[in-house]
Formats: sequence, structure tokens, C-alpha cells
Amino acid sequence: MVICFSGLMKGEMMKVSLLLLFLALLTPFIYFFVGASMRQPNYFAFSELEEPNFSATGDESQLGTELVNPNSEKPATKLATFGNGCFWCTEAVFENLEGVTSAVSGYSGGSVVNPTYEAVCAGTTGHAEVIQIEYEPEKISFATLLKAFWMSHDPTTMNRQGNDVGTQYRSVVFYHDEFQRKTAESFKNQLNGANVFSSKIVTEISPFSRFYQAESYHQEYFKLNGRAPYCQWIIKPKLKKFNKAFAKFADEFPSDGQEQADVGEDASVQTRNTTWVKVRKSDAEWRKQLTSQQYNVLRRKGTERAFTGKDWDNKKSGQYNCVGCDLPLFASETKFASGTGWPSFYQPVNKINVSEKPDNTFFSTRTEVLCSRCDGHLGHVFEDGPQPTGLRYCINSASLVFQANK
Ligand SMILES: [Zn+2]
Repeated sequence: MVICFSGLMKGEMMKVSLLLLFLALLTPFIYFFVGASMRQPNYFAFSELEEPNFSATGDESQLGTELVNPNSEKPATKLATFGNGCFWCTEAVFENLEGVTSAVSGYSGGSVVNPTYEAVCAGTTGHAEVIQIEYEPEKISFATLLKAFWMSHDPTTMNRQGNDVGTQYRSVVFYHDEFQRKTAESFKNQLNGANVFSSKIVTEISPFSRFYQAESYHQEYFKLNGRAPYCQWIIKPKLKKFNKAFAKFADEFPSDGQEQADVGEDASVQTRNTTWVKVRKSDAEWRKQLTSQQYNVLRRKGTERAFTGKDWDNKKSGQYNCVGCDLPLFASETKFASGTGWPSFYQPVNKINVSEKPDNTFFSTRTEVLCSRCDGHLGHVFEDGPQPTGLRYCINSASLVFQANK
């Protein structure tokens, strides 16, 4: 009996094993066919979008909704309101863009006054989950925001984003003026004309009426709940995909005149002890001054390929200055062979000559290093360097000008 039973088990086990093997072999094919049916949008077309022309007399008088900031030193900002699915995801997308001063989650486009999240989710208020973006037109254009909007969600599904279904998740641009309406209509037509997405864009373009800020626990959801499963599985991959596509195909982030996010004690030290003044240049001036590689690193936070820069293996005695403004940054005495293929130093010549800023671009805990005088991107600092500091300033050669000691 025992022998019989074990014999049967063996046979069954065999069948199960064969079935599992068969499924394992089939999996890549299933992935392939399912994947092929979901064609990637042709994001390249975003770089070719033409902005509509506006006559100087008619439309320009109505450009944007200017908010006169109580702090008069700050430039005037404008508003843009987009609905592109669950606002937990979209808030994070826009907050990362240079020139966006705030991105607030809320509801718009419905009939109910002061709606609650529960009511909006029930789909009966007519409201969409939206992000109200306050931006500085000097730094980021409405056109760039529109590109970010269309690249960060699927605008071809009616009232649906992934698993979120309902009119509250509809793709919508609530325009604040004629300029925004015309730009949105024009881009939508161009994208549809070029068949950028696998089917037609269904994004609604409607006049803005009123915005209701969402309950406070929704604001900055991703930043505060980055470890929650929803963020890990839905928002994070989405953001990663977006950052990649946007950096590649949307137009440039205007990058000069960046505000330092981390002003604290260091900032006051900086103003007290330094004799140099900040260098501020327009994007056109930077382009003219720098080579395309220097521009890409310094002004667009690019990274040169490892082992390709001029200084990673430079063992000469001397000083490394900022290629953008000539501020002394590092000295050969603090340079060490890190094996990374980038010039590496354990400390700057003067702590106040470089500024540090948290960098979440790749969802790691990197710290960006910038030139304090011109805010040019230099590289990153890591805590795995040699003594006496234990720090490793991993710097792009393209950001540096080397001056040999005589
Ligand atoms: Zn500089």
C-alpha cells in the first residue's frame, strides 16, 4: 500500500513538474506578445512639437493668470491645472520640475462645492483629481508643463488610468486663459496627427472654474509615504519611466537662476565669509560660453561617461576650478584614485565653495554637489571616501578647469 501510494505520488509529481516546466518555457512568449500589443508612445515626437503663434496685439494681452506675489522679490507666477489620474502620482511628477514653485493636489471641474475625497472617489461630484501647479514662466514654459502632463500618463483611455476607473480620473487640462487653451489644443492635434500614442488622445480641454484643495493627508503623499506599497509599486516605477522619457525627449529644463533649496546655516555663512558674488547667466549665455558637453553636465545635470573625462586619471599637482565661473573647487592634494573613472576628492578647497542638495532623480539617497557661485552641477558626494573626511566627491571632469602648479 505504501509502495503503491508513493508510486502514484511519483507519477503525479512528474506531471506537475512537466507542467511547471512547460509554463516556465512559455512565460517569455506570453510577455512578448502582451508587451507587443501595448506599444510604447513615440515620445520622440514631443521634441518636435511646435508652439502655436500668437499675434502680439490680440493674445498676448491675455497671457497667463498672473499672481502678484506678496513677496515682491519673487517673480510673478502663473497657474496650470491638470488632471491625469491619481494625484498621488502626478504631484510627484510636477514637483520635481525646475521652475514649479508648488504642486497641490485637489479637485476641479465638478459641480459640488467643497467636495471630500470620498465623494470624489464615488464618482458623483463631476470633479476630477487634479494638480494645481504654480510655476514661474521665466523658468518653465506652459508648453513644457503640457509635455510633462502628456508624457506622465496615458491620455488615450477615457475616464481611466490603469486600475483607477471613473470620471474623477479623466485626463483633462483646465485652462486658465486663451494662451493655455490654444497651446493645449494645438499640442493635442499635433500629437494625434503624428500618432504619438497607440490610439487617439481623449484629453478634455475645458475652462478652469474652481479648485478645491484636497485634504492635507493627500498632499506630498509620495514624499511622505515613499515606502508605502502604493508608492513602491505604482508611483515609483511611473516616476522613473517619466523622468527617463522627459529628460530625453521633452525640451530643456531652463536651468539658470536656480534657487538653492537648502538654505540654512550654511547659506548665512556663505554670505558672511565670501568675497565673490553669485554668477547668474541666461541659458543662451551659458550655451555660448560652454562646450556642449560642459553645458550638458554643468547646466543640465548630466554625467560624463566613466573613464572618458580629462581629469579622472590626472595625477599632476594643481587646482581644479569651476568651468562655469572659475571658482576654485578642489586641490590635487585631496584627490585620490577611487577606481570609478571620475575625478574623486575627499574634500573641497573650501566648504563654502560647493553647495550640496538632496538629489532624488534616481530614487536613491544621493547628494548633488554644485558650485556655490554659479550653481553649476559638479557631481555627487558619497560617504565612502578615505580619511580624514570619509567623503568621496565624485566630480565630472567636464565641470572642472585644471590649473597646474608652477
Ligand atoms: Zn561655478
